[in-house]
Amino acid sequence: MKNPKNLDSYVSKEEFFKPVVEDGSDVIFIVDFQGIIKYHNRAVEENLGYKPNSLIEKNFFDFIHPDTLTSFKEAFKKSISKPFEENIEFYFLCKDSSYRYFEFNSINIWHKNRIEGLILDCRDITQRKKDAEELLKAQKAKEQFLANMSHEIRTPINGIAGLVSLMAESTDDDERKSYLSAIQKSAESLKVIINDILDLSIIESGKLKLEKIGFSLKSQLDSLNNTFIYQAKSKNISLNFNLSPEANLIIIGDPVRLNQVLINLLSNALKFTHEGKIEVSVNLEYKIKNVCYISFTVSDTGIGIQKQKLKSIFESFTQADESVTRRYGGTGLGLAITKQLVELQGGEIKVSSEEKKGSDFKFTLPYKTGTFDDLEEKKSKKPQRDYWFENYKVLLVEDNDINRLYVTKLLKKWNIDADEAENGIEAMEKISTKHYDLILMDLQMPVMDGFESTTLIRKKFRPPKSNIPIIALTANAVKADTERCFEVGMNDYISKPFRPEELLNLLVKYEKGVNSSNFPEPDKKENVTDLSYLFDSCHGDKQFVLEMIDVFVKSTPKSIIEIESLIEQKNWRDVSKEAHKIKPSISFMGLSSGIQLVKEIEASGNSGDLNIGVHISEKFMALKKIINKAIIELQDYKTELTKQG
Ligand code: ADP
Repeated sequence: MKNPKNLDSYVSKEEFFKPVVEDGSDVIFIVDFQGIIKYHNRAVEENLGYKPNSLIEKNFFDFIHPDTLTSFKEAFKKSISKPFEENIEFYFLCKDSSYRYFEFNSINIWHKNRIEGLILDCRDITQRKKDAEELLKAQKAKEQFLANMSHEIRTPINGIAGLVSLMAESTDDDERKSYLSAIQKSAESLKVIINDILDLSIIESGKLKLEKIGFSLKSQLDSLNNTFIYQAKSKNISLNFNLSPEANLIIIGDPVRLNQVLINLLSNALKFTHEGKIEVSVNLEYKIKNVCYISFTVSDTGIGIQKQKLKSIFESFTQADESVTRRYGGTGLGLAITKQLVELQGGEIKVSSEEKKGSDFKFTLPYKTGTFDDLEEKKSKKPQRDYWFENYKVLLVEDNDINRLYVTKLLKKWNIDADEAENGIEAMEKISTKHYDLILMDLQMPVMDGFESTTLIRKKFRPPKSNIPIIALTANAVKADTERCFEVGMNDYISKPFRPEELLNLLVKYEKGVNSSNFPEPDKKENVTDLSYLFDSCHGDKQFVLEMIDVFVKSTPKSIIEIESLIEQKNWRDVSKEAHKIKPSISFMGLSSGIQLVKEIEASGNSGDLNIGVHISEKFMALKKIINKAIIELQDYKTELTKQG
């Protein structure tokens, strides 16, 4: 401290009083013990709307909200008895007649100066109060959700447990069949709940990918009609689908997600309607260039929704009121998923409803129009019921005997002979000695779990072993688990218990989709090279062509080795760069089947795709085969040309 004297004189009462008290941002009152305001600073104007000095000689209590006055008076009384008091909350009337939450810290002047008065240093806590209220609301909704959830999950589980013991005791075949079908129903309803949670977690984590395929709106609505017609009939409710002629189109988009939205809305409509009708109207709202904006409206004559609840029904875990849960069950997730799916597809959903009259849910989605040739069913064959795999090797890594038995039996049905491992260590041994096309991997296992095993497989082995598609068999369908599956390098997951078709769909997808058999194998007889472009461009200069072949034969294998090592290092960016480099020489040699693969490898390397490793490696393997064949062909050709002189 250089000059304490100067600082002392600076901290004179006036110098200090003006900036801190008079012009300070905290509201400061001085009141006597009866609450009469003797002083207030200028901050009352900004915070409460009152002019400077306008509250002097008014009673502080007259500004306190009547509902909180009694408790405030008690707190005020306590402050009088203490030299200092903190965080006393009050709800104060502002000039514009609104009330705001404040809290004060008080200094009792009596204790120091024997004058009856309190200095109240007040802070606006309205926002803090609002945040706390919001938090409380969210907590309540979550508690409500957990209560609903445990009810929704417990009911079918109890049902299954009870029915299983009844089945064990029964010897009558018909009786056992009816128990079985009831068990199946309970299991299905459990699955709906778990799938809802999964869907929401996938959507919220931003991992949901939308398809862009051609589909007909008419067939989409027809199949929805088939799904709901019996339910509607059994409730004596008429169900109508109106597709306007202008909207009877083939469109390009994600039919599964559109279906999911409509199914959610129709299931609710059916659930909450007891008489009258349900109508689905589909119209072309407008068209900009070749994008059609199609509106979908699901109207019902059901119980309707209270006005003040209309906004919140789209929030997760929210139902219109608690009686809904008691009467209709449900988890309050359906509309949250619906809203997010609509928004992901570029649309918006709105609801209008009147209690006891019914509800209208309307959303509009943009679609490009397609033609008959775009229809997906025309392009791809759906997996047949009795699928037959040829030479497809699967490794099943699962510690639970029953689950192993179930999966191997299913696989056998489709001609897949599966090897079994009970944990990650056993799996590693099997993979190192044998070839597998796909691995089904349980997550929770003793010795080495599915996450660790996958990490090791991806790290320890070289391609193609390190890139075998791995599908997780998940028991707890929680977001953290599914996210981790992808993080450690798994390609997909399926939640236990699963139905045979679900597993089959995944197997078919990986057999056809990312398996190397999907890529063109160079035909043993047909040439993969075509030198006509090269000859044309050098006007038939044989010497030039020979030199070009020489360069290709010498340099391309080096590039291939380089790419292979970059793939091993998972250095996708440089893989992409190397692929880019070899593009011209591959074009010159007329490797038409190779050029497409190189382009795809180059693009994948920059794509940030989750399955990047699998996609690139499989394409690379196919490319390598083509290049090897090209080199043999070119060397033969070179010998031929040299012979001709
Ligand atoms: P759940 O149906 O599982 O409760 P949703 O998110 O699908 O969850 O719906 C949330 C709430 O919105 C329902 O609980 C219900 O109160 C209300 N609701 C939804 N659709 C309708 C409808 N068509 N008629 C009346 N109420 C509805």
